[in-house]
Amino acid sequence: MFDNLSDKLDKALHILKGHGSITEVNVAETLKEIRRALVDADVNYKIAKDFTATVKEKALGQDVLKSLKPGQLLVKIVKDELTELMGGDAEGINLSGNPSVILMSGLQGSGKTTFSGKLANFLKTKKSKKPLLVACDVYRPAAINQLHVVGDQIGVEVYSDKLTNDPVAIAQAGIAHAKTNGFNVVIIDTAGRLAVDEVMMTEISTIHKAIQPQETLFVVDSMTGQDAVNTAKAFNDVLNFDGVILTKLDGDTRGGAAISIKSVVNKPIKFIGTGEKMEAIDVFYPSRMADRILG
Ligand code: GDP
Repeated sequence: MFDNLSDKLDKALHILKGHGSITEVNVAETLKEIRRALVDADVNYKIAKDFTATVKEKALGQDVLKSLKPGQLLVKIVKDELTELMGGDAEGINLSGNPSVILMSGLQGSGKTTFSGKLANFLKTKKSKKPLLVACDVYRPAAINQLHVVGDQIGVEVYSDKLTNDPVAIAQAGIAHAKTNGFNVVIIDTAGRLAVDEVMMTEISTIHKAIQPQETLFVVDSMTGQDAVNTAKAFNDVLNFDGVILTKLDGDTRGGAAISIKSVVNKPIKFIGTGEKMEAIDVFYPSRMADRILG
C-alpha cells in the first residue's frame, strides 16, 4: 500500500540526516521533496503546498526538542500533520436508530455492494447486530443477484423486490420488513453509474430524503486518486454524507485519495476496503495510516 509515497518521503526526510538543527536553508530541499512526493501520489497541488507550508512553520517554530534529532523531529511533525490531514481521531458510525438505517452511495464499480456485505458482516460478528441488506439497484438484476450471493456468504438476509422499479418503495418496504422482523440495522445498497450524472444524483437524493438514514456513506475506489476526490465533492454537495468508505486500498500504490479526501469534503474516512473477501474491511485510523505511510 502506498509504497511509492513511503519511499519518496523516506528519502526526503533523510536529507536532514547529519544536520545539527533545522534551518530555513536545510529544510527547504526536504520540503520540496515532500511536496513532490505528495503531488506524485496524486494529492492535489494546493493541498500538498499547504501541507508543506504548515510543516515548515512547525519545524522552524519548534523550540527544538533537545531529545530529537532534526530528522526525527521532522518525521514527527510530518506524521502529526498527515494524521490531521486525514482526519484526526477515528470516528464510528451512528447506530442509534431502531433500526439504524445506513444508505450506501457511490459510482458503479466503486465497491458498494461488496462493502455493504463487508459492513453487514462486521456489524454482525463484531458488534452483535442483526443487519438486513436491501437491494435498491433496480436497473441491474445482476447487482441484486450479487447482493444475494454476498448475503448467503455471510449469513445475512437480503430484502429485494424484482417486480418494482421504484428504489424508494423498495427501501421503505425493506425498512418496514426490518421493523417487523427484529433487524436492528438496515444497509441499503443503491444503483451507481459510471460517472456523476443528474439522473443518479436525483435518484440518490430522493431516496435520501424519503428514508432519512442515520448514516449516509459514500463509497469510492481509492485507486482513482483525484477523481475520487472530485466525485466525493459532487456526492457531498447533494447528500451532505456522513463519511467516506475508501475501497481497494490493497491495490493503491499512490495514496492521493486517502490523503486529500478529508480536507476537500470535510468528512471523515470511516472504513477502508483492503480486498475482495468479506473480511477485508478495517476501521480507518488516521494515525495508523500515517504510520504506515511513513514506514
Ligand atoms: P459496485 O458496483 O459499487 O456495487 O461495486 P462492486 O461491489 O460490485 O465491486 C466492483 C469490483 O471491485 C468487484 O470485482 C469487487 O470484488 C471489487 N472490490 C470491491 N472492494 C474491493 C477491495 O477493497 N479490494 C479489491 N481488490 N477489490 C475490491
